[in-house]
Amino acid sequence: LTSSSSGSGLHVVHIAAEMAPVAKVGGLGDVLSALSKALQKKGHLVEIILPKYDCMQYESIQNLRVLDLAVESYFDGHLFKNKIWIGTVEGLPVYFIEPLHPAKFFWRGKTYGEPDDLKRFSFFSRAALELLHQSGKKPDIIHCHDWQTAFVAPLYWDLYAPKGLNSARICFTCHNFEYQGTASASEIASCGLDIHHLNRPDRMQDNSSHDRLNPVKGAIVFSNIVTTVSPTYAQEVRTSQGGQGLHATLNAHSQKFVGILNGIDTDSWNPATDTYLSFQYNASDLEGKSENKNALRRHLGLSLSDSRRPLVGCITRLVPQKGVHLIRHAIYRALELGGQFVLLGSSPVPNIHREFEEIAKKFQNHEHIRLILKYDEALSHSIYAASDMFIIPSIFEPCGLTQMIAMRYGAIPIARKTGGLNDSVFDVDDDTIPIQVRNGFTFVTPDEHAFNGAFDRAFKYYKNDSEGWEELMKKVMNIDFSWDTSASQYEELYLQSVSKAKAARRAA
Ligand code: ADP
Repeated sequence: LTSSSSGSGLHVVHIAAEMAPVAKVGGLGDVLSALSKALQKKGHLVEIILPKYDCMQYESIQNLRVLDLAVESYFDGHLFKNKIWIGTVEGLPVYFIEPLHPAKFFWRGKTYGEPDDLKRFSFFSRAALELLHQSGKKPDIIHCHDWQTAFVAPLYWDLYAPKGLNSARICFTCHNFEYQGTASASEIASCGLDIHHLNRPDRMQDNSSHDRLNPVKGAIVFSNIVTTVSPTYAQEVRTSQGGQGLHATLNAHSQKFVGILNGIDTDSWNPATDTYLSFQYNASDLEGKSENKNALRRHLGLSLSDSRRPLVGCITRLVPQKGVHLIRHAIYRALELGGQFVLLGSSPVPNIHREFEEIAKKFQNHEHIRLILKYDEALSHSIYAASDMFIIPSIFEPCGLTQMIAMRYGAIPIARKTGGLNDSVFDVDDDTIPIQVRNGFTFVTPDEHAFNGAFDRAFKYYKNDSEGWEELMKKVMNIDFSWDTSASQYEELYLQSVSKAKAARRAA
């Protein structure tokens, strides 16, 4: 077991529900591995603790083995053993917790969406702290993410710091304030939190249902550092319209709250080396991009007759947040404007899934439209590479990664100006923005008319100015979306917090 960092680097432990590529549902998984890799590259010791899901991509874990360490953790009045596994993912040490609990918490064939998710992840949060405690680790930073591991913050200060696991500062990153894990106090009590002490307006009590506790609110209150995933979203969630009920709490804790724009993993998202692609390419040699476009059209049975017919891509979870009505509209609009449209999306929402299944069926043999309603990592790479344009018409978007990935692959984004999209997509026609950063097409109002305003302009530009379009492609492919800058911001926050704690300890 690695127990402390070497040299002057920090020892950072992430506790999370996702990590790409082993257990990825959305952006959280990408962030976990890319931020960890960037911090490791800066000389910090970074370790990750994940649940041991049955449905992980096991082939991406090297040297997976069981540790000779039986960690017992508390839940619902009993102690349960946990089997602890360790392996290497993308060069990072990862601990996997397998609870020996009769409910087989992570043996469900899926990551989320079980009726007992609250139990599954509050159990995991506690077991992860128990692992740190029982293995004698002394991390400088424990970084937890989203409601699933938000329990870590109050558990740490209320139970584990008094037990001696007290070396760490707690950082909490909320990747999406829509999901808060709110539940009755008795459910939250299962992991051993003292609900009487926590059920107060200035602690964990939900701001609208006073008989319920809110794990995300608890993490905001009890963490030393609170971040979210873009500066614009950090401002939006401090307003009553955008805060999903937590704006007052975030305003009360604004001193420790910042928005840091995510990067993308530029090693795994690189058209010059991407092994998922039939043809690799780069900004100075774009030939491979049109070959990928044809390869995808062939693969999906779309017409190859006109190479200048623009291909519009969309890769997303199909949930209301993503602007599903505008995605549906864009399919028809692309057709009207003479384009092709490929959607790769999966939906956990039954009526949205049904609706898109209907549309997929309608277009199943169409020469210009294809809807693929599943999660498919390999296909996602082919679509980014094949697309000329890429739509992200979100209602709200904490950061959004697909616009950045699309640009890295030379697909021009058409995005709504919200959250992280507002921090990464800048309209080519907006004179108020320096010309060198303009990189896409944007719109403000989440309706069809406003969407068309941006979409139609993109089509017109593509059709009327192929040289200008190619310049734009080269420009967006050369934008630096790596984690270097953002990881430095996290590093800075960690270091400030650690030195503040040291100073306080010296003063005491
Ligand atoms: P969110 O985290 O809200 O889902 P992000 O834009 O932050 O949205 O991250 C989405 C990530 O998930 C991207 O890497 C995207 O390529 C991937 N993704 C989304 N849907 C699919 C899908 N159906 N198949 C493959 N990858 C997908």
